[in-house]
Amino acid sequence: MASKFESVRRQLLRMKKETEKSLKSLRKQLASASDNPRHSNHMADMAQDYSEQETLRNLITCHENTLTLILLALNRLNTHRYGICDKCGREIDDERLRVLPYALLCLKCQENVEEANRRPRRKR
Ligand SMILES: [Zn+2]
Repeated sequence: MASKFESVRRQLLRMKKETEKSLKSLRKQLASASDNPRHSNHMADMAQDYSEQETLRNLITCHENTLTLILLALNRLNTHRYGICDKCGREIDDERLRVLPYALLCLKCQENVEEANRRPRRKR
């Protein structure tokens, strides 16, 4: 039965490798962008530098999150919990796992989470 998840494992390992590679190159880009600011006092240039670095930072965060999910999914393969929704414990749709092999939540729970994030939080 181990072979059922063998292709998933291979896919995840490939994604892990690719994500790590992109992260490395993004971090390099960000480092060189921060080390070599354009010597310019023009507000427009400074704003552009800033937004480029901001974009890189966002991309890095995004890749780091993906990498975490991939590692979690690999871990779940090892502990035989792969494909089980983290929230409701039901099986995650095969179709969803094909598109997103590192999904931790079923579609329904994912939608609930996103819905909750969209709602403005009211404290006080
Ligand atoms: Zn669920």
